[in-house]
Amino acid sequence: MSALLDIKSMLLNEIEDKFVDLGLKKYKALQVFRWLAAGAESFSEMSDIAKETRAMLESQYIILKAEPVEQHKSADGTFKYLLRFSDGNCVESVLMKYKYGFALCISTQVGCRMRCRFCANSKGTFVRNLTPSEMLSQVQSVQKILGIRVSNITLMGIGEPFDNYQNVLKFLKIVCSDKGFAIGMRHVSVSTCGLPEKIRLFAKERLGVTLSVSLHAVEDEIRNKIMPINNKIGLDKLIDSCKYYTSRTGRRVSFEYAMVDGVNDSERDSERLARLMRGIISHVNLIPINNTGSEFRPSSKEKIERFAKILLSSGVKVTVRRVLGADINASCGQLRVTSLNK
Ligand code: SAH
Repeated sequence: MSALLDIKSMLLNEIEDKFVDLGLKKYKALQVFRWLAAGAESFSEMSDIAKETRAMLESQYIILKAEPVEQHKSADGTFKYLLRFSDGNCVESVLMKYKYGFALCISTQVGCRMRCRFCANSKGTFVRNLTPSEMLSQVQSVQKILGIRVSNITLMGIGEPFDNYQNVLKFLKIVCSDKGFAIGMRHVSVSTCGLPEKIRLFAKERLGVTLSVSLHAVEDEIRNKIMPINNKIGLDKLIDSCKYYTSRTGRRVSFEYAMVDGVNDSERDSERLARLMRGIISHVNLIPINNTGSEFRPSSKEKIERFAKILLSSGVKVTVRRVLGADINASCGQLRVTSLNK
């Protein structure tokens, strides 16, 4: 079993090379790649491929999938799934319905190493990285259960995408390939706690996906406390890498700012944030912090509005985001932590 190759984690050109090695015609790779993108879970479903070829492929490759273990539906229409992989590990995916279609938030790791203090995942253990196929399987599993087509994908679930950089990059290339799943790069966003070296590498790929940086504080002293990874980085390096990203790609960076009462929501913070945004093509998303059992409380609506006004008056593009799925613990990691504690 262990010798079987995970075919859904392979780029089309990698499948082609392997097929040629196996003595198969190169064009067969495209047929298989299309079947995989369409959600085929076995080679026997691939009806336009000869039986003997299918049998040979079965002896070489495995098609991985994710099985639903739990489903929760929020009053606002948000769905949250706990999905299980072949080794028994589980992650969460959250589906949100918008006017433009369905957006699925997927996980990139089993657990997370970043330890942000407000995040539900800081309590769970880090187990392993997800493979590209396991990221794709989350999308396909939810599509199959609900009989829908996901129009947008956000890498904002459990895990730090840039701590699993190679697999995430490969997943993006596979899911956006116009010969396969064909989701538009502009419909995909990657959310990071802000690892500057990886932001620079990612900029060089010029993929055209949206980069979202979880900023949450504008002073190192505060960011160090709520996001321990910042101790190794510092805001200056992070902001420099974001400037590099915008200059290299011509794309704006989205900054997430979760508002915590008495921690990062003062007028001084908003003025500082406005200064930090100078010279970056950016968009700031303000969101009241979701209570995941930490000591942090969300800022009041009035404070958030005031914060937004100051940013707006300084020319910063800003949106105050709605909280979706609060009644089903839709904030990332909450379901996995609950299931681990059962
Ligand atoms: N590791 C990545 C992606 C996963 S977290 C990152 O840090 O961006 C997805 C987003 O949810 C991040 O912006 C994260 O900071 C935010 N988040 C985590 N816990 C939260 C909470 N309790 N309330 C509001 N946002 C939270």
